[in-house]
Amino acid sequence: MTLGLAVLGSTGSVGTSALEVVRHHPDRLHVVTLAAKGRRLAELLEQVREFRPVQVAVADPATARELAAAVPEGVEVVAGDEAAGIAATHPDVDRVVAAMVGAAGLPATYAAIGAGKDVALANKESLVVAGRLLTELAAAKGVALLPVDSEHVAIHQALRGGRPEEVRRLVLTASGGPFREREASTWGEILPEEALRHPTWSMGAKITIDSATLMNKGLELIEASHLFGVPGERLDVVVHPQSIVHSLVEFRDGSWLAQLSVNDMVFPIQYALAYPERWENRFPRLGLADVGHLDFEPLDGDRFPAVALARQALEAGDSGPAVLNAANEEAVHAFLDHRISFPAVVDTVRAVLDSHEAVAVGTLEEALEWDRWGRERARERLRAIG
Ligand code: MG
Repeated sequence: MTLGLAVLGSTGSVGTSALEVVRHHPDRLHVVTLAAKGRRLAELLEQVREFRPVQVAVADPATARELAAAVPEGVEVVAGDEAAGIAATHPDVDRVVAAMVGAAGLPATYAAIGAGKDVALANKESLVVAGRLLTELAAAKGVALLPVDSEHVAIHQALRGGRPEEVRRLVLTASGGPFREREASTWGEILPEEALRHPTWSMGAKITIDSATLMNKGLELIEASHLFGVPGERLDVVVHPQSIVHSLVEFRDGSWLAQLSVNDMVFPIQYALAYPERWENRFPRLGLADVGHLDFEPLDGDRFPAVALARQALEAGDSGPAVLNAANEEAVHAFLDHRISFPAVVDTVRAVLDSHEAVAVGTLEEALEWDRWGRERARERLRAIG
């Protein structure tokens, strides 16, 4: 029996890497369903022809009709806002790769867990917007919520070396982004095209901007808090430009465990698909002597305040991270559209977060309501400054 997968966000950066892992393990994995926004129709169609899913989900109905006319016989096409959730909960699916971008991925993730599917979670915004809801639902349903983010996969592995009470803190590594060494007084001149040239990882546009502002690391800090049940004060960030050490755990006896590999998404994705097993593969091997040296430096919180803002949101309580994330998504899109400057991205997030009084969130609807509230506030502000 091979493991049946739903790949949500199949034409994105993580989705295509997940399919690359499937390609390497035809004896262990097969694709049951694919879901995508449908913007890259030709690519999606190619995936359907190669992986032969039984069902494909796209949000846009017009795109779905076009797809339905072109897919091989026997492939069902579903459309609409609920389509990704339908693909995630198909009866033949064993594990869901949740790799959609942004808070838009939350309902499908929630549906997958609710249906008792194990989830390999690349959509970090889901955990940021509704972390407590998702982890509580996963515990109630007895499903595994497995990270795909390289940092969290590293911590997940390191934590296998000790008991929870033996852990002192979790330390996330950050590449520092493309502007780590750039004079902050010149940041107003940064154009999206420049910010999109990320030095170490190949990723989609939204996460690439998040990596440049270091908001990605802030979102990951919140994600780590939920995934591993560790409060913010026991989570740290260290800058590591080579992105070879993917993160670390410090234990109470002063021992550290770190996880290293070549920085390619196929490693963390395979880990999340194989867990609790480890599979042989033919991915590129790490040569320590080729790397030569590994550098670490403190995060400069004055130049990169995004991590502190995320910490502030986490400590404020449930709705705080949802609002932070919503404001950030809106601000990043405004920057990518050339409507605001690079420094205005994090300034917008700060202003919206500061105007928010955090409250507990008990349902998915409430989480989505705070997401809308954060977006509205951010848009008002973006109109005023853009
Ligand atoms: Mg990451």
